[in-house]
Amino acid sequence: MAEHEWMNDIRALVGKEYGRVRAWDQVNAPMIRQWCEVMGVDPARYTVQGEVTAPPAMLQVWCMEGFHLNNYPPGSTTENPYEALKMMEAHGLASVVAVNSELTFGRDVREGERLYYTTRLDAISPEKTTALGTGYFVTLVMTFFSEQPGGDEDVGQLLFRVFKFRAANPVKPAAAAPAPVAAKRPLPGISDDTRFFWEGARAGKLLIQRCQGCGLLRHPPGPVCPGCHSFEWDTVQASGRGTVYSFVVMHYPEVPPFDHPNPIALVELEEGTRLIAQLVGVQPGQVRIGQAVQVEFNTFNDGELVLPQFRPVAAAQAAQGVAA
Ligand code: ZN
Repeated sequence: MAEHEWMNDIRALVGKEYGRVRAWDQVNAPMIRQWCEVMGVDPARYTVQGEVTAPPAMLQVWCMEGFHLNNYPPGSTTENPYEALKMMEAHGLASVVAVNSELTFGRDVREGERLYYTTRLDAISPEKTTALGTGYFVTLVMTFFSEQPGGDEDVGQLLFRVFKFRAANPVKPAAAAPAPVAAKRPLPGISDDTRFFWEGARAGKLLIQRCQGCGLLRHPPGPVCPGCHSFEWDTVQASGRGTVYSFVVMHYPEVPPFDHPNPIALVELEEGTRLIAQLVGVQPGQVRIGQAVQVEFNTFNDGELVLPQFRPVAAAQAAQGVAA
C-alpha cells in the first residue's frame, strides 16, 4: 500500500532526540522506602554495605512530573516527545493502545544521584491493519542518565511501543447512561436535647435554648446550664439576624453534595449567642468578619432535612434594620 503523503512530515521525525526531562529530587531514601511500602517489598534489600540503592524498577519514578500535569523542573525541555502521535491524531488516528514496554538497567543508582532522561523517536512501522483498526506502531526510547562531574552516565533505558490507529469499530457511547444518584446531605444526630432545634427549623423558626434558672442562652443545645447548672430550660425564637463572627472557606475535600468552595460561618446572633452555619448567596472571597447576615431555612434531601443557613444582608437593609 502506498504511503499517505501526510506521513512524510511525521516520518521525518524518526531518529529525533528530544531534550532533557530533569528530576525534581535526587535519588533519596524516603522515596525508596515509600515505593517499597506500596510495592510490598523490604527496602532493606536495597541497602548494600550501608549504601542505599534504588530498586531498579523505580527508574521512571525519579523524573516524574509530580502531582500536577506537565509540572517539570526548571531546565527541562519544553519540546513534546509525543509530537508524532499528535500529528497522527490530526489525520484521524485518534486511538492508541500500548503494545509493549521494555526496561533495561545499566547499573544501580544510589542515594544522592540526580537523574534526567532524553527521549528518542526510535521507529514508526509501515501502515498496519489489526483487529483494532489501521495505523502505525510507534516506538519511543527514553534513556536515563545520572549527572556526574566527569561526564553523565547512562544508567538505563525504557522502550515503549504504542499502536496509534483509526478504530475499525469506533466505540459508540452507551445509549442511556443511568442518571447519577444525587448525593444527600448527612443528617444531624438528633437527641432529646436537640430535637427542639431541628423541629424549629422545620417550622421556619430559629430556636435557641434558654436557662430557666439564670436566663443564659446556649448553643449548641445541652442538658445543663454552664452558668448555673440548672437542668430547667425553655427556648426563645431568635430574630435570625446576626453578624459573621468568624468563618472558614472549605476548599477540600470536595465532597458531594456540598458546593465548593464552601463558606461556613460562626454567626453571632443579635440575642448574643453564636452558632455555626453554612453561608449562602455570597462569593467565598467576599465573606467579611462583622458582615450582617440573616437566617433562611432551606430544604434538602427531597424534604428530609431543613437547615438554617445565613445570607448576607444588603448594606441598605442592614442600615434599615439598625434604624428600626
Ligand atoms: Zn443558668
